[in-house]
Amino acid sequence: MSFLKAVNIKKYIPVREGILSLFTKPKKWIRLVDDVTLEINAGEIHALIGEAASGKKALSRILIGLKKPSGGQVLYKNKDIFRMTRDEHRVMRRELQIIFGDPFSSLNPHFTVKEIIEEPLRLNEIEYNDSIIEEVLGEVDLTPPNEYLWRKPFQLSGIERQKTSLARALVLDPKFIVADEPVSLLDTPYKDSFLELIKKINRDRGIAFLLITSHPQYAFQIADRISIMYLGKIIETSRRRDIMENPLHPYTQRLFRNYKEPYKITGEIGITDIHPSPDIPGGCRYHPDCPYAMDKCKVEEPRLMEAENGHRVACYLHE
Ligand code: SF4
Repeated sequence: MSFLKAVNIKKYIPVREGILSLFTKPKKWIRLVDDVTLEINAGEIHALIGEAASGKKALSRILIGLKKPSGGQVLYKNKDIFRMTRDEHRVMRRELQIIFGDPFSSLNPHFTVKEIIEEPLRLNEIEYNDSIIEEVLGEVDLTPPNEYLWRKPFQLSGIERQKTSLARALVLDPKFIVADEPVSLLDTPYKDSFLELIKKINRDRGIAFLLITSHPQYAFQIADRISIMYLGKIIETSRRRDIMENPLHPYTQRLFRNYKEPYKITGEIGITDIHPSPDIPGGCRYHPDCPYAMDKCKVEEPRLMEAENGHRVACYLHE
């Protein structure tokens, strides 16, 4: 049985220019996610790498039902998550969780750690006792639990807040967690330890993760599979080792070129931030920047095709 699958997902946002445009049909649309199909296997860590405005965040929210797509389906255990019965929807909401890069904005500043972790249990009407809260704190290395239970977010360090956020997701016994830039705000020494914690929980509990990141090295560190997103499309996807050692798409090669040794940055990241725009180039959307662009690339959009065993790429160089 397929675990979690996004099929032909589209997320289009209308461009409104001036107040009058609110009352007319939009002429332009930003294609944040543009016909993306992505499968997450049970128990894997899948990394989705892309720069700002690549659509990775919008896709991740759609995958767990927090945002509705403009088109396409999300199938969780073969059921469309936007057409579930009330009971199925309640189970799905519990099993598909998310943690954010900035736990300050997602942790209630007035709650203690205990209240933060209890809240989803209460909202889901799940019976619990203190030992469940203590157990989950132990699992994320906030020990001894008694030292943390009564603290509020401002009394925690950055890594402790992030661990609290993870504990709150884990207490619901999820099957899949979106980790949205989970280490972006942590100090350097703590980035590795939080990524290793995700790996440990993945191993121990078999929870699948979608790691959203703009930094390839985090994906290299813990992912089983990696997908690259560019201007709303997945342009390459494969097992971690294959894409690390042999990136095929010119954009992926550019993105990875500063990571000559695994886990080490040897220069500036080779990407620039881009902003959402309705003006996506026709043909291959990377052709204006691609050093290998051919005539065909300017008119026809390449599909994601199998280049090697399980390694798929959207580029005419690998037809
Ligand atoms: S399809 Fe053409 S333009 Fe696009 S990445 Fe490949 S070679 Fe470059």
